[in-house]
Amino acid sequence: MHSLPKPYDDFCAELRRFVAPARLIQDPLRTLAYGTDASFYRLIPKLVVKAESEAEVARILRVARKHATPVTFRAAGTSVSGQSITDSVLLVLGDQWKHYEINTDGSQIRLQPGVIGGHANRCLAPFNRKIGPDPASINAAKIGGIAANNASGMCCQLAHDSYHTLVNARIVLADGTVIDTVDKSTREAFAETHRDLLTQVDELARRTRANALLAKRIREKFQIRNTSGYSINALIDFEDPIDILQHLMIGSEGTLGFISEITYRTVADPPHKASALVLFPNIKDACEAAAIVKARPVAAVELMDRAALRSVEDKTGMPDYLDGLPEDAASLLIETRATDSTSLKRQIKAIASSIADVKTLFPVHFTDDVEENIQLWNVRKGLYPSIGAMRETGTSVITEDVVFPIPKLASATLDLQRLLRKHSYDEAIMLGHALEGNLHFIFTKDFGKYQEIERYRRFMDDFAKLVVGKYDASLKGEHGTGRNMAPYVEFEWGRDAYDLMRDIKSMLDPDNILNPGVILNSDREVHLKNLKPSFPVDPVVDKCIECGMCELTCPSSALTLTPRQRIVGLREIARLEASGEEPQRRIALQRLYRYDGVDSCAGDGLCALACPVGIDTGQMMRILRARRIGERGNKASRLLADNFSVVSKIARGALRTANIAHIALGTSLMQGLTGGVRKLSRGHVPAWNPYMPTAARVSSTNAHSRTDAPRVVYFPSCASRTMGPAKGDPERDSLPAKTEALLRKAGYEVVYPEDCERLCCGMPFESKGLMASADAKADETVQRLLRVSRNGKDAIVSDTSPCALYLKQRLKDDATLFDITEFVHDFVMPRLTLRRRSEPVALHPTCSIRKMGLEDKLRKIAEACAEQVIVPEGVACCGWAGDKGFTHPELTMSALRDLRASLPSDCMSGYSTSRTCEIGLSYHSGRHYRSIVYLVDGCTQRQP
Ligand SMILES: Cc1cc2nc3c(=O)[nH]c(=O)nc-3n(C[C@H](O)[C@H](O)[C@H](O)COP(=O)(O)OP(=O)(O)OC[C@H]3O[C@@H](n4cnc5c(N)ncnc54)[C@H](O)[C@@H]3O)c2cc1C
Repeated sequence: MHSLPKPYDDFCAELRRFVAPARLIQDPLRTLAYGTDASFYRLIPKLVVKAESEAEVARILRVARKHATPVTFRAAGTSVSGQSITDSVLLVLGDQWKHYEINTDGSQIRLQPGVIGGHANRCLAPFNRKIGPDPASINAAKIGGIAANNASGMCCQLAHDSYHTLVNARIVLADGTVIDTVDKSTREAFAETHRDLLTQVDELARRTRANALLAKRIREKFQIRNTSGYSINALIDFEDPIDILQHLMIGSEGTLGFISEITYRTVADPPHKASALVLFPNIKDACEAAAIVKARPVAAVELMDRAALRSVEDKTGMPDYLDGLPEDAASLLIETRATDSTSLKRQIKAIASSIADVKTLFPVHFTDDVEENIQLWNVRKGLYPSIGAMRETGTSVITEDVVFPIPKLASATLDLQRLLRKHSYDEAIMLGHALEGNLHFIFTKDFGKYQEIERYRRFMDDFAKLVVGKYDASLKGEHGTGRNMAPYVEFEWGRDAYDLMRDIKSMLDPDNILNPGVILNSDREVHLKNLKPSFPVDPVVDKCIECGMCELTCPSSALTLTPRQRIVGLREIARLEASGEEPQRRIALQRLYRYDGVDSCAGDGLCALACPVGIDTGQMMRILRARRIGERGNKASRLLADNFSVVSKIARGALRTANIAHIALGTSLMQGLTGGVRKLSRGHVPAWNPYMPTAARVSSTNAHSRTDAPRVVYFPSCASRTMGPAKGDPERDSLPAKTEALLRKAGYEVVYPEDCERLCCGMPFESKGLMASADAKADETVQRLLRVSRNGKDAIVSDTSPCALYLKQRLKDDATLFDITEFVHDFVMPRLTLRRRSEPVALHPTCSIRKMGLEDKLRKIAEACAEQVIVPEGVACCGWAGDKGFTHPELTMSALRDLRASLPSDCMSGYSTSRTCEIGLSYHSGRHYRSIVYLVDGCTQRQP
């Protein structure tokens, strides 16, 4: 147990009475890891509490109040202004906040704060509706953070943000009481117990409305996006104090209360879309065009300056015409959406003709082709990653977020460009949601240097003078005030409005325990303090901007660390090693990192898919494993690799013995016995579960060759050659036998590589950091595959997705290797007659299937075979990772904790494409999971 400083030990002692110890985190590694959000600030919490219910949050706040202990709430931690970090107590949303309810016509959605924004939209998609806010981080950001930041995004008009689409909410106040604004009776109940508070709110609102000048200023400033300071428009927009209260919560960044539930009015999401990337000779023309098209039926208008376009022009998939544009060129990416194609055409015409008189570099061309649309939006979406990737190691990414009234956008943009040049931020790129006058400019700086901090200070002062002094505009439009803009809130709003904000804070949080220092802060330098160090570690991870987009798919996120947190840990260890500071702390971090960082990483690499700069933290962990194993480990592994057929035989023997023991002892005795042995061996004996495979029965020989049929080389993986079906599985054939039968049914001649039994793709070695053995096995297998496929003349099929991905990378263009999914989809199914099953089936796309982009094909296969296919939303990597399920079963348990509950009771079986993943999936779902091949074989017949 790591000790806590006073008064946190007393606070924590009280929490221990009702919060499980595993949800109270105080060790130096994980508190460090939670000390980061997507901003360039860092504060390390003393204690992290994972809260699981509204009642628990209420109780925690009561204890916090008693001990005068500040608490900061955390949803996904993707904020960029430093509002979701603290050096006190961080209250993180645990697993239990994912509930949602949609009303019958989809016009409203009730959400708990832990629902991911993108998930909410996927649930609303069947109604052609979505939630209004659409931050670019929507696939990671959670509702709590979206509402508390009043986040917006590319297609979010002012009328569609959280403030304007809020219907009702449940809020936990600082004293632990709950206000539910859902209906008359709950409102009356609150009014009964909180008469004083509501009277204060009412008085504040009356005073504000009575101050004509102030009311006018508030009204005018909220004509455009504004997230600097509180949503004080609530005081003039509403009369009922409860309505005022719930709207004040929006954009309050966790400083006024905890949002435990929110109901949004949803907005239309028409299915027909078209986009155009319109290029202008200069940014002034682009801004003027934006002002014109605003009056037309546009869904999004994204501005990009020349520097922004330049940062992506060389990337693959970008349109050719981006290359060689004039120095001052700028663009607008315009999207329009309609309910039907006729309306879409009409809208395109209206938009194009509205800017017919504005000079453009190329004729305006809209496309409704899905692929072309994706390509155009990739220009915009690639900007943040590309600046992240281009920046020098050790620098921080700074994103500012300013809003001007549309008519002033053109001149304000030119002023901003001049200001950036004046402060020598020449590399800054400018982009923005032009429809809302919301501009972001992004640049990178090394805050390790004193002169850079000073330069940033001077820039920010000048920036505030320009934005407020010349344009009376908003210093923050959607990212929240945080710590970054707190020193300028009074400057932007003036004394009266600032006093009003202070009154609101002291009325709702009189003890200043809710996220103190965020939004309101009397420290004029708070934006220059607690800057995040970004120490170089290894080129594999150095480009990480700690944005947190990777966290959602990580199987160890609930167990130990996420990819972002692993990198944070590595950076701090590297910094301490280099500086020689705090040696004891460094040693403690290194000791904890062995398991939390390295051993508990599944190495699946799904994080690279979610990461805007494509970082595979799993690869970094494999590098660390390799360093730890050293030459001795490699020698031992080579012995295994050289005798792989013997190893396979031994493995089959062990499975056979375990199965005999299972039959003899029964499941519960076997489980107890193996659990005991594993405990005694301190985890060295592999974990057993009732879904363990029996020994596979295989014969991968070329016995039945038919010369008149098309040839296919079938490479059964070592896992499918060794592991047969689980004991209770009604399917009795091993995967290789089933696959061969299916391929033959489709009319193929099946040939195997010679001496198949000793082959392995190499990946099991690589995942343990045994790089030399991995290379040796992969090379051997590739050579055999080339030989048997007549140097790539015949197609090669792998039955296991991780192996297919690994071998594809090794074979490159020398031969065509298909994952079983694509081969079945493209070549087997068209040759067979299908009969769909009525019972629902579960589907698990493995990490490799996702990385190969085969998710869609896998789903199509399943949908062709079964009337209902369930792909559970919250399940990404299963965490089995080849053999981690045997050695670290807690990782699989953590990764698949939501699986069982997400499957309906009439779904009796699941399908996937990796035998080892299927063991964990079966165990944690209580259903037999097996290869998709079994499903296809059971639903198909030879064509007459
Ligand atoms: C790559 C990237 C792109 C982005 N794009 C956009 C964009 O287009 N538009 C935009 O607006 N923002 C954008 N953001 C910023 C950020 O992602 C959004 O503001 C997002 O809504 C934050 O959600 P979160 O779940 O990460 O919240 P967090 O960062 O965890 O929290 C945000 C704030 O809400 C508070 N909070 C969290 N939960 C609660 C709760 N239940 N009750 C009360 N307070 C709570 C926290 O204390 C904190 O102050 C982007 C960020 C990144 C990294």
